[in-house]
Amino acid sequence: MAQLPILEYPDPRLRTKAATVTAFDADLKRRVADMFETMYAAPGIGLAATQVDWHFRVIVIDVSEDRSQPEVFINPRILAKEGEASGEEGCLSVPGIFDQVVRAERIRVETQDEAGRTLQRELTGMLAVCLQHELDHLEGRLFVDYLSEMKRQRIRKKLDKERRERGARPHTERARQRVP
Ligand code: ZN
Repeated sequence: MAQLPILEYPDPRLRTKAATVTAFDADLKRRVADMFETMYAAPGIGLAATQVDWHFRVIVIDVSEDRSQPEVFINPRILAKEGEASGEEGCLSVPGIFDQVVRAERIRVETQDEAGRTLQRELTGMLAVCLQHELDHLEGRLFVDYLSEMKRQRIRKKLDKERRERGARPHTERARQRVP
């Protein structure tokens, strides 16, 4: 397994629309394992393949406190939405920024597992919100797109400044340290 570098806003690669997964093979399993390792190390509760510059419709999530409920969603699509949930969201690709986003409270999704089996699931609470956030990534959308242009400008400036201050130390530092 390997930790992968996470793309950061406003990297244009985050705007890529992900393609449907058609091969449910060993390569897919390896990439899913890498995505989990990257998400847990970040640490985050969800990660879309887009964020690690792999443009296929794959999402990993674990919203449990003790990191014991890994969930994989392959080619997920929302069949139905219900209610409204407003909460503070953050994103591994927009580090240190949190803001209010309104999502559906309950969703029904059709998705595939790593073996390619199709299943339907009802999701609520944090898991529902997280999946909607990750699905946006697969469409090239970010949570900051829901904010005003003024807020986005402020966020870009803040992230630019932080990147300059970090200087030569990239956000992939942890991944690099693990490379033998
Ligand atoms: Zn995100």
